[in-house]
Amino acid sequence: LNELFSSLPTTIFEVMSKLAMEHQSVNLGQGFPDAEGPESMKKIASAAMYDFHNQYPSLLGVPELRQAVAKHSEREQGIPVDWATETLVTVGATEGLASAFLGLINPGDEVIMFDPMYDSYTSMAKRSGATIKPVRLRLPDFSVPLDELAAAVGPATKMIMINTPHNPSGKVFTLPELEAIAALCIKHDLIALCDEVYEHLVFRGAKHVSLRSLPGMEERCVRLGSAGKTFSFTAWKVGWMSGPARLLNPIIKAHQFLVFTVPSSLQRAVAHGLDSEAEFYHSLGPSLEAKRQLLESLTLPPSPCPSPSPSPPLLNSSLGPSLEAKRQLLEAQLEGLGFELLPAHGAYFLVADVSKFLRPGEDDVGFAKRLTVEGGVTTIPISGFYVGPSPPTHLVRFCYCKEDAKLKAAGERLRAYL
Ligand code: PMP
Ligand code: GLN
Repeated sequence: LNELFSSLPTTIFEVMSKLAMEHQSVNLGQGFPDAEGPESMKKIASAAMYDFHNQYPSLLGVPELRQAVAKHSEREQGIPVDWATETLVTVGATEGLASAFLGLINPGDEVIMFDPMYDSYTSMAKRSGATIKPVRLRLPDFSVPLDELAAAVGPATKMIMINTPHNPSGKVFTLPELEAIAALCIKHDLIALCDEVYEHLVFRGAKHVSLRSLPGMEERCVRLGSAGKTFSFTAWKVGWMSGPARLLNPIIKAHQFLVFTVPSSLQRAVAHGLDSEAEFYHSLGPSLEAKRQLLESLTLPPSPCPSPSPSPPLLNSSLGPSLEAKRQLLEAQLEGLGFELLPAHGAYFLVADVSKFLRPGEDDVGFAKRLTVEGGVTTIPISGFYVGPSPPTHLVRFCYCKEDAKLKAAGERLRAYL
């Protein structure tokens, strides 16, 4: 048996969602939205199935989606991409990440990763033979310790991995931080793997800037995106990557034997989404006022078959325009109960300091489980997202892309329990 995987615990997302179901708690743990993505995309996906798009497409992905990925990159970040040689469609960003580690890393290479980090990185990086050099983001705002980052680079360092907007913290890397990372990559001839699945989920004046858009970085960065996050279709598991051919080629070789390809019906729908549903994913980002203006300016096409949902077809999800409001709703309730919330500008997560609610000897994992079982509210403890020694054990993550009724119910349950 493989030592790494045979000793690996089940991912915390599965553990907490299962516990939430068993105890019928309000699940503000795992990051998936209650509302769904654009109706137009669902129609295209199902029509494509009836239109005989049910056999293996190219291992690289269907041209429509790869072209859409290239246009999206140019439009959103000003990064030119040759769709034919610089794009790949993956089974969610998760497979893209796994293929990237397998394709880019040789045993013994060091990879600098920011602690805490999304849980799939660690195992896939280790399985590829990488030595992880964690650089811990500084609390309370998860800022990058630039001195420690520079000191972490050594002769064996091959790559820096960056996730912005960041899971689990909601941090959006600032321009000075990105510039410092870019300078290190250029100085030491490093490559960068950029997980940007939450690229359209930024709030409160923050702006998402891709590391790849900075001078000198186009040739060294591979970017990842996800239809799960951009279009709220987390179960579709469609992701995309873009980067220079020299870096993408070995990733493609790993991808071809991990999964070979991705359902073409879903790819076609995501291509349409990237090309034509910019209103949808941009509505996740701008200020409330901009969202209001956007809603007012939308001329909604008559729907050929009326949707059972009362919400307008283009913004079927309702997640976008109300995400900031949902965050305010959860924030107000948590702060009213004495939770100390850490600053966050992106994704759909809030990290809370729960020190004052911990029982003697209890850590974040114990607290999160107790809160699910006894309090009826589920969160994600974040100590397990740390790789370095002595992780903080007083922080839990709340996910707020949930129905307002659920957010209110969570507040009521917490008030009754704590
Ligand atoms: N990266 C981060 C930071 C995530 O939070 C997630 C979870 N959505 C993924 C990658 C995986 O994305 P996907 O569901 O597209 O595989
Ligand atoms: N990315 C999601 C989160 O952070 C979970 C994805 C998963 O469960 N694998 O909650």
